Amino acid sequence: MKKFIKVVIIISSIILIFSTNFNGETLNNSNIIANLVVVNNYNKLDKNYVPKNLVKVNIPFIDSISEEEEQLEENVALQLEKLVKMASSEGINYLGTSGYRSYKSQKEIYYNRVKSQGLKKANEYVAKPGTSEHQTGLCIDLTNEDRWFVEVTKEAKWLKENAHKFGFILRYPKGKEDITGKKFEPWHIRYVGEDIAKYIYENNLTLEEYVDENKN
Ligand SMILES: [Zn+2]
Repeated sequence: MKKFIKVVIIISSIILIFSTNFNGETLNNSNIIANLVVVNNYNKLDKNYVPKNLVKVNIPFIDSISEEEEQLEENVALQLEKLVKMASSEGINYLGTSGYRSYKSQKEIYYNRVKSQGLKKANEYVAKPGTSEHQTGLCIDLTNEDRWFVEVTKEAKWLKENAHKFGFILRYPKGKEDITGKKFEPWHIRYVGEDIAKYIYENNLTLEEYVDENKN
């Protein structure tokens, strides 16, 4: 009997997890608003959504990266190259770990994690397919030469203070976990354009708060 209850609980939680993430229509090539699109657990990207102008980014990457993940939307790639070059001139060196990820890749990553660590751990650490911002081609994860990109490192500090000058924001800031639905990620930057990035930086906002403030 106990076993039966356990099975019922597991099945109903799976149904709940997969049914609560939809907020009407999914975002696709025809309804997406470039640069300001919000992708999270409540705003999903269509499985066929692919950014229009993906290009290979000309910065150093970690060795294990796939060719797909070395790409970003063209303008974002240019801005990131400028950021990395400026940082390097100040003695701060970045490596890219993951840029664009297709729906298919995200699906593989997610299900592999479910298989290896179970649903709970997978949901904690990996975005479900369609809910990862990496599918937009507007964001990238960076690391440093030590592959230890935590808040106190000079690379994380530089990124926090300078990313906006190139149009990027820290997408998952500390203390805003309840708004973004994500743990603090000092390595994940998202392109929104210089003016908006500056505003978000100066007012200590998240993208969700900015978009909410500027509705209509
Ligand atoms: Zn990321």
